[in-house]
Amino acid sequence: MISAVMPTYARADVVFERGEGAYLFDSAGRRYLDFASGVAVTAFGHAHPRLIAALTEQARKVWHTSNLFRVAGQERVAARLISESFADTVFFCNSGTEAWECGLKVIRRHFYDAGHPERNRVITCGAGFHGRTLAPISAAKQEKLTKGFGPLLDGFDQVPFGDPDAVRAAITPETAAICVEPVQGEGGIHVPPAGYLRALRSIADDHGLLLFFDEIQTGIGRIGTLFAHQREQGVTPDVMCLAKGLGGGFPVGACLATERAAAAMVAGSHGSTFGGNPLAMAVADAVLELVLEPGFLDGVAAIGERLGAQLESLIERHPAVFTEARGVGLMRGLKCQPTNTTVIDALRREGLLAVGAADNVVRLLPPLIIGESEVREAIAILDHVATDLAKIGAAS
Ligand SMILES: *Cc1c(COP(=O)(O)O)cnc(C)c1O
Repeated sequence: MISAVMPTYARADVVFERGEGAYLFDSAGRRYLDFASGVAVTAFGHAHPRLIAALTEQARKVWHTSNLFRVAGQERVAARLISESFADTVFFCNSGTEAWECGLKVIRRHFYDAGHPERNRVITCGAGFHGRTLAPISAAKQEKLTKGFGPLLDGFDQVPFGDPDAVRAAITPETAAICVEPVQGEGGIHVPPAGYLRALRSIADDHGLLLFFDEIQTGIGRIGTLFAHQREQGVTPDVMCLAKGLGGGFPVGACLATERAAAAMVAGSHGSTFGGNPLAMAVADAVLELVLEPGFLDGVAAIGERLGAQLESLIERHPAVFTEARGVGLMRGLKCQPTNTTVIDALRREGLLAVGAADNVVRLLPPLIIGESEVREAIAILDHVATDLAKIGAAS
């Protein structure tokens, strides 16, 4: 018999009852160090007092009015995002996949209104991930996402990630845009070579294309800058989508664009019943206030480097279990010798939560508020689990 909750996930058999900072507690009272963060979502950990206050204060006032009316919170959050980015305008939605779809609609409508409806194709990257609705799975073209869900949406040409020449070679008179994640997350924590985003920017400029960054996972401080593309000085996209960290655990997505890119988006061209509702905006505003506090992002970068260095020495100690450490900031990956699910289950049993990714990688996505002691504790658990797994490996 099918389970009451549609069985679309391979869930771990644990129920969390409450959280506090970087820790979660299950229904038996066991404590876990949360280096999953609900897949890079709970950027300020659990039960952050400022986020609780923002949500509950708004909850007492008004929850939802729809986008038939002005929403003050949207105007506030949009102003913050615009003042910190390349963007001139923001559309609010509820999830990453919707934010990405909005980006695609902005791109298509831009060229349609410019008298070039034939320019509707987007170059995307292999092992990329943009969400689970039909446009993003069509763009990702991976069988594990698309099997049985055809007909897929046409209009995507895929090239290998990290290779500007491949992008250049894929351009046709129908190309409208280039879309990449500045660091691939679900694909296995792939950091592109230095200068990659700058090269894409100049290719886009040479060919009159729009550049579309999917910062749903990398955005909001995850790698130690507010947006990951800010690692490459002076490189900006025309369109960018955000979600995950933006709401700190409250569902929210956003599509940011320049005025030029979004000029064709007018009343009636896009919409969402729930998008940017007052509750989501109250929390997103508080998240942005926290992440932009002076020195906070420098602290994320510093602790991220510390974690990265510790992971490098970890893999040297356990070559039979971990073959590679990847990533930047607090977006880290360990490529595994055993299956990553074996490693993740063993880590959870020892009280450390991590997330899988493609390419047999274990992702470590701690909340941005961790310090030295959480890094030490995570490394101790990783050491212990790797020693155990190496023994089992040797025995079998
Ligand atoms: C998680 C993710 C998405 C999809 O977000 P949802 O909120 O699950 O729809 C899209 N792109 C990237 C890069 C992501 O990490």
